[in-house]
Amino acid sequence: MALSPNILKHIRKVEPYVPGEQPQNRVVKLNTNENPYPPAPGVAEVLQSLDTDQFRLYPDPTAEVLVSALAENYGVSKEQVFVGVGSDDVLAMCFLTFFQSEMPILFPDITYSFYKVWANLYRIPYECPKLDDNFRIQKEDYYRSNGGIIFPNPNAPTAIYESLEFIEDILLHNQDVVVIVDEAYIDFAGEGKSALSLLGRYDNLLVVQTFSKARSMAGMRIGYAIGNPLLIRYLNDVKYSFNSYTMNQVSLACGVKALQDKEYFRHTVDTIMETREWAKAEFAKLGFHFTDASANFLFVTHPNYDANELFQVLKENDIYVRHWNSDRIAQYLRVTVGTREEMKHLFTFLKEYTLKGTGK
Ligand code: PMP
Repeated sequence: MALSPNILKHIRKVEPYVPGEQPQNRVVKLNTNENPYPPAPGVAEVLQSLDTDQFRLYPDPTAEVLVSALAENYGVSKEQVFVGVGSDDVLAMCFLTFFQSEMPILFPDITYSFYKVWANLYRIPYECPKLDDNFRIQKEDYYRSNGGIIFPNPNAPTAIYESLEFIEDILLHNQDVVVIVDEAYIDFAGEGKSALSLLGRYDNLLVVQTFSKARSMAGMRIGYAIGNPLLIRYLNDVKYSFNSYTMNQVSLACGVKALQDKEYFRHTVDTIMETREWAKAEFAKLGFHFTDASANFLFVTHPNYDANELFQVLKENDIYVRHWNSDRIAQYLRVTVGTREEMKHLFTFLKEYTLKGTGK
């Protein structure tokens, strides 16, 4: 069987995003920035009490219960909230909705690799200003005219957080385009760090967050955007032109429940932040260098060990971390912060490995 040249010529060909591995055997899994702790206990209770007879019906296309719960949680109006199937879905909709100018959109050269994939998929021109040698975004690079801006804060995979003054400066220089701050990891930067506090002053700002990290629900696929009601209305128009029923009934019910347990949320986030700070000290003892991580992962390199070799050796020993063979970051590993036990397991292995001194 073969496809005709005409068919092949008219197929949209894309270079897809490559997600981190999801091994099915039990490993120490520090490769996809998942939360090592379970979701809030109420989520399991909600699942047990679900009325499966309701599954006959389509879910609420407006996702009202979750939109309301998010609006209440963040002190915004329901008209300011958009929800989707993980923040990947929300971001894909944002690219399609807001980046329609002929001018290139801007995002850093080292960042979430999905941005480039969506830009190519939707034929959006883009430029990628370089992070400096310390992997910091240079805000002046975002002063030039453009078709929109997106960056994560903290950035990925560098884990570096930029201040609200920094974000505000970018907003001040770009009032004519939509600026999206992807806050997938913001809760691990500490309280009061989100650009949500700038929404009142910048109608062109859109903040995107997720339940996948701090709320331990990557498997449920829940993400959201918060911003000016007009931006949210345009996003919904695109959503309804694509798939009206993005949020399934189970995710809606579990998402609402997860939001209610603020104490559990604070506790797990604090625990991960503590483990991260402890892990920084452990990495330093072993001679690793790393960025000042404000996310639930660390971005580390060792002067004596090749990152790709270390990545392979760790994997052979059932410890999964993330490595990219790409320019500028090929000597780095991204290590998700797991439980204290998982991290101890990692450090026990690394201690032995570095003692053997089989470096480059
Ligand atoms: N933004 C960034 C920066 C990420 O690292 C991720 C996780 N891969 C996402 C968005 C998407 O996360 P999710 O779709 O699970 O919400």
